[in-house]
Amino acid sequence: MSLPFRLIYSNDYFLPIGAHVFPAQKYRMIHDRLLATHEATEDDFIAPKPASHDDVRLVHGAGYVDRLLHGELSPQEELQMELPYSPELVKAFWLSAGGSILAAERALVDGICVNIGGGFHHAHPDHGEGFCMIHDVAIAIRKMQKAGRIRRAMTVDCDVHDGNGTAAIFPPKHRSARPLPSVSAAQVKSTVSGDPSSTELDVFTISLHQANNYPAYKPPSSIDVNLPDGIGDAEYLSWLDQALSSGLRSFSPELLCYIAGADPYAEDQLGGLALTIDGLNQRDRLVFEVAKARGIPVMVTYAGGYARNVQDTVTIHVNTILAAKEIWEGKQ
Ligand SMILES: [Zn+2]
Repeated sequence: MSLPFRLIYSNDYFLPIGAHVFPAQKYRMIHDRLLATHEATEDDFIAPKPASHDDVRLVHGAGYVDRLLHGELSPQEELQMELPYSPELVKAFWLSAGGSILAAERALVDGICVNIGGGFHHAHPDHGEGFCMIHDVAIAIRKMQKAGRIRRAMTVDCDVHDGNGTAAIFPPKHRSARPLPSVSAAQVKSTVSGDPSSTELDVFTISLHQANNYPAYKPPSSIDVNLPDGIGDAEYLSWLDQALSSGLRSFSPELLCYIAGADPYAEDQLGGLALTIDGLNQRDRLVFEVAKARGIPVMVTYAGGYARNVQDTVTIHVNTILAAKEIWEGKQ
């Protein structure tokens, strides 16, 4: 083994969606790049099992789950999901959700675990949308809570698109206007989520996203950072730093779910921010350093990434693993 933590991966993460802006082959490309560059060996990877239907129902309504399993989505539901339905696609999403469950379990043991998949943060309890059928991260959180492994989780969503599904599944318990210190025209909404030592099951959601992008309606997260178009590395990192500090002042998670979308990248086809590959690497390092310093286990999922050159998307995702390796090996 080459890494101080495990990678969750299966060749069956491939999404059978035909010609599509979502690069369904990226998961295999990440796996192959890690092996080709000797950054990982085959025994660094663990293959997941699919989530059970009961696991999926921890987050999603029984009616929606039945329609998925029996191929009974309405044409409108399929359009909203923006993916062509097939039973094979259902299998791939169930497997990704199983991968995120396994990543959460391994993160609690090893301190960090990366699911080379998942991060389907637009899926809602009763419908899929924005290339997301079911919400693997929410399923993993609910499963860990149900098993008594954790009570409090925090999602840190750095995909360029708002985590609307996450916010819909875990609506903030208390809303109050507590803006972060203002360094730009970006708008920040913050909420306080009670006593950090509470034993209540609770999920604190942070979403940093481009304000002027999908989805049109952005339900409130615990902290929303609505970024203006075109911001670059320095401003983004400053906002992330403030959001993490603010969140961890008011909430003490036992698991941090990092949704490491590659689409804030300047060359992304569906994003309108201007981060560099190096800036995205600094973003990953910031999240990891903050979590590790506080002893908070981290599970990583990959979400979006639509760079004009798919190799850039692969590089950004591979770099996330290399950043984690450096930090968890203590070679900072
Ligand atoms: Zn995205």
